[in-house]
Amino acid sequence: MNKIEHIGIAVKDLKASNELFAALFGEEHYKTETVESEGVITSFFESGPNKIELLQATNEHSAIAKFIAKKGEGIHHIAFAVNDIELEIERLTNEGFTMIHQSPKKGADDKLIAFLHPKSTNGVLIELCQDINR
Ligand code: ZN
Repeated sequence: MNKIEHIGIAVKDLKASNELFAALFGEEHYKTETVESEGVITSFFESGPNKIELLQATNEHSAIAKFIAKKGEGIHHIAFAVNDIELEIERLTNEGFTMIHQSPKKGADDKLIAFLHPKSTNGVLIELCQDINR
C-alpha cells in the first residue's frame, strides 16, 4: 500500500459542507461526482498534498445514509493508493482480512476501488484506490 490517497467524510448536506470546507481550506472543491452504484454524491478538495472527499447519500439505502443514521456525520473512511488493486485484494484476503468487495469497482475520481470490512480493521473502513489511467 502507498500513501493515503484521501480521507472520506460523511455529510448530510453537501452544499453546506462544500461552503464549510472551502472556508476551511481557502479553496473551492475541484470536482463533484455522483456514483450511482454507491448512492452517493461526492465532492473533492485539495489542501496541500492532501485530498478530502465529502460524501452525501442520494437515497436512504446508501451506505452513507446508514452510517450517518448510526454514527452521525464525520470521518467515514481512509483511502490508500495501491499500484495493483487486484494483487492487493488477493494479498489482503490471504492475510485474513475481510473484503467488502472481492473485485474492484469503478469509484469516483477515475479510480478503481475496493473496501475492506471495518470488522477486520479495528472499526476503520479502509478503501483501496488504483488510478484507472496509470
Ligand atoms: Zn473514498
